[in-house]
Amino acid sequence: MAKIILKRTECIGCGACVATCDAFFEMGDDGLAHLKSVEKKDVEELEVKEVKCAKEAAEVCPVDIIEVKE
Ligand code: SF4
Repeated sequence: MAKIILKRTECIGCGACVATCDAFFEMGDDGLAHLKSVEKKDVEELEVKEVKCAKEAAEVCPVDIIEVKE
């Protein structure tokens, strides 16, 4: 298992993570990125079997608030 962590309070709403990895990321109605299927909160965590595109999303995030733990 792996874990994706998103510090959404520091998101600038650029949409790059969603464009790169819509398997796990979407934009919330508040304009900030959000991890699909988890409750919206300041720091969101999502357990996944496969990291897939999440690492690319972490790389493209301009404010470096996406972490992938394997
Ligand atoms: S790439 Fe980073 S700053 Fe841009 S929307 Fe996603 S989490 Fe927010």
